[in-house]
Amino acid sequence: MSLLEVHHLTKYYGAERFPDDISFAVDKGEIVCLLGPSGCGKTTLLRIIAGLETPDSGQVLFEGRDLRDVPVHQRNFGLMFQDYALFPHKNVFENVAFGLRMMHLPRGEIEARVREILELVGLSGFERRDVNLLSGGEQQRVALARSLAPRPRLLMLDEPLGSLDRTLRERLMNELRVILKSVGVTALYVTHDQEEAFAVADRVIIMNRGRKIQEGTPQEVYRHPATEFVARFLGLTNLLPGRVVGVDKGRVEVETEIGHLKIGDWGGHWQPGMEATVLIRPEAASPGECPPGGDNTISATLTELSFRGGYYRLVVRHASGLELNFSIPMAEETLPRPGETVHLPLRSEAISLLAPDVRGSQS
Ligand code: ADP
Ligand code: MG
Repeated sequence: MSLLEVHHLTKYYGAERFPDDISFAVDKGEIVCLLGPSGCGKTTLLRIIAGLETPDSGQVLFEGRDLRDVPVHQRNFGLMFQDYALFPHKNVFENVAFGLRMMHLPRGEIEARVREILELVGLSGFERRDVNLLSGGEQQRVALARSLAPRPRLLMLDEPLGSLDRTLRERLMNELRVILKSVGVTALYVTHDQEEAFAVADRVIIMNRGRKIQEGTPQEVYRHPATEFVARFLGLTNLLPGRVVGVDKGRVEVETEIGHLKIGDWGGHWQPGMEATVLIRPEAASPGECPPGGDNTISATLTELSFRGGYYRLVVRHASGLELNFSIPMAEETLPRPGETVHLPLRSEAISLLAPDVRGSQS
């Protein structure tokens, strides 16, 4: 039995449903991210689990118990919502101690716990600071400390880094995972940012238009997006139509406008003659010495080349008109120039086949 189980949650807004028949489970100590575009129903789903909204159908179980009649304050869940601001008239200590005072803990215990949790979020010695004078990142740390202090049975975070600039967000998302893991809290984390979800989550649930589209570890959903919507949402845009022409020992061969491609896995349900969308991940190309026209090699015109630090980003245009982009670590001496023809061998493990989008999963 999982710690949290959500069964077929549905809520109607007029003719629309947010969420629409959503089921999933979260194990003790796990960090699960709900990832999806703005307006797909993530916040509504969290609010139902928190007890702030009532679903029209479905159930929320915690430790096997139906929470239908358990009011918000008796669920002992921690909330860190985007609009759940700090108390502006209280200092850092009083903000973090808030939940502990509600529990009527002895003063010494509150002080010890606040000290411990401030140390964990990197704010030791900040007790007497005025929260209004803290930076955005520090305020988020105080909010996190406040929600963790009462040792919630489940911590729900709704776009907690949404208001921070990119650099700070990147630093905090890595730190956030370390903090959540070090206290061992079970967490449900909402974001529309795939990098943030990948950095924080053990498992992600991808949503669109109220529905669950895919669930898996960050690696699984990145390597095998279930649908075209998921691929595009994850920033994977090298998508082209293909037709299966051969299946052999788990290897699939597809015919596409850029030639025959061999795909190294997921042979299972593909049969010759089936139509599919082919996804070529940007890291698929491994240039080097290779004869043009070899297996899985695309020959195309380089249209853009940009330096991205650890790799170069290449945009190429095939004779068919199709544009593809690749991320390739390259030595400066070997760089092609825009306008030149490049021959890029594609690794079969970095190509996959996607089933057509089903209802609710279109972008
Ligand atoms: P997200 O958090 O993924 O951005 P929300 O859960 O906030 O999405 O909203 C999902 C959808 O539910 C919205 O597009 C909106 O149409 C609908 N919705 C949410 N709350 C209400 C409400 N109180 N009244 C009407 N529609 C609502
Ligand atoms: Mg939201």
